[in-house]
Amino acid sequence: MLRLVKTGAEGEGACTDVMEIHRPDDLGDIANLGLTLAEAKRLLAGIQREIVAAQAREHAVRRPDCSRCGGVCRVKDYRDHAVATLFGQVTVRLPRFRCAACGGLEAGVGWPSHCRSTPELDRLRAHFSALMTYRTAADLLGQMFPVDAGTHHETLRRHTLKVGEALSGCAAVRPETPASAIMVTLDSTFIRSCAEGERHLEVRVGNVETQSGGRQVFGAVAKAGTDIRALIRRILDAVGRTTDTALTAFTDGCPGLRRILADAGVTTRPMLDWFHVAMRLQHLKQIANSLSTDDPARVAAKAVIVEEVERLHWRIWNGKAKDAQTSIDRIRAVMQHFQGEPEGRKSNAPSWKLWIALHALDSYLTGQSAWLVNYAERHRAGLRVGTAITEGTANFLVNRRMNKSQQMRWSRRGADLLLQVRCAVYNGTLGSGFGQKFQPANDPYPLTATAA
Ligand SMILES: [Zn+2]
Repeated sequence: MLRLVKTGAEGEGACTDVMEIHRPDDLGDIANLGLTLAEAKRLLAGIQREIVAAQAREHAVRRPDCSRCGGVCRVKDYRDHAVATLFGQVTVRLPRFRCAACGGLEAGVGWPSHCRSTPELDRLRAHFSALMTYRTAADLLGQMFPVDAGTHHETLRRHTLKVGEALSGCAAVRPETPASAIMVTLDSTFIRSCAEGERHLEVRVGNVETQSGGRQVFGAVAKAGTDIRALIRRILDAVGRTTDTALTAFTDGCPGLRRILADAGVTTRPMLDWFHVAMRLQHLKQIANSLSTDDPARVAAKAVIVEEVERLHWRIWNGKAKDAQTSIDRIRAVMQHFQGEPEGRKSNAPSWKLWIALHALDSYLTGQSAWLVNYAERHRAGLRVGTAITEGTANFLVNRRMNKSQQMRWSRRGADLLLQVRCAVYNGTLGSGFGQKFQPANDPYPLTATAA
């Protein structure tokens, strides 16, 4: 038997029996050991009901002062409030008051209007929904807690999007110590749209990092309501940007992203993230290594190509992208040796793939030449050459929850608001109770990144 006893300055007071617990004494079966989840849930729900009832009794004897004239209030009537909590649905009977002097009404509680759930439940629902589908989140919540109202996945969705909306209205909390340097990265990716005649939604994601390791992520779906420029400004403030802060910006090749950065007040010239260049070079190397060597001419040609790809890498890394054309031309010059490769379809032949990849890299370098820097020099000076973290961030924020492979389709607004919640979960800003920072598995800079 579980009994709650009220204790206070005057000693033990009223007691209430919450529930009887029957567990077998026979431990022959390990399943008999301790409380079951079902019992624990009933127990929590029972305790919650009793605690709420006791709180309501205490609350009912208070008499607030009138907010208009300061007069004495009297109880006008009582109203029942059904509120969903993490430990079950409770009904709270609360008095409403009327001022004896001026007749004004007083609620006696500062609850938001039409309040149907506790902030803690709202936050946990949003947190779960940020990490898994609404359906799975609803199921998990129902499995773990005696939540008996609002566990439908549509309810979770509605609440989560409301939290997302509230988050976009939050002002930045400036840290005590200003940041001397901040690195900003902005990137874009796509998710599937559920709207008729619209296949993909563009999602802009990025992160800011300070020299001391402070890090925050941000994201917004294009044309969805969240102003990415305002978001970037706010996040820069949140990590301590001042007029003296040195800003460094990285982005991929898209001019739209550079414009966003400039509009957000990041006026330093954004660099092409080495990460994006390196990925293309890596692709090129793999293809070069897969070229066939079935006659002496091809052996020689392949050796030239592999060497030139290495040289190409060296040239771009050392800020000599202008000379990249020489390497590309040398590779093209020996490629005729691979004509008629025995690979079946033409598009499967490594030489064809190499031709395509080379062409892509060539136009990429031409288009991006203004944004390439001497990466080697920066690296030697201990400066960042990019943020490999971008891809990890994008994966974490977008792909794993809004997964393409899960065939999920998103509404512009729904995806945008959920993204605000996901960023808040990542940044540890989703309410104090659940605000612990946690580590996404694909984050390549684990400890230092979230140490601040
Ligand atoms: Zn009054």
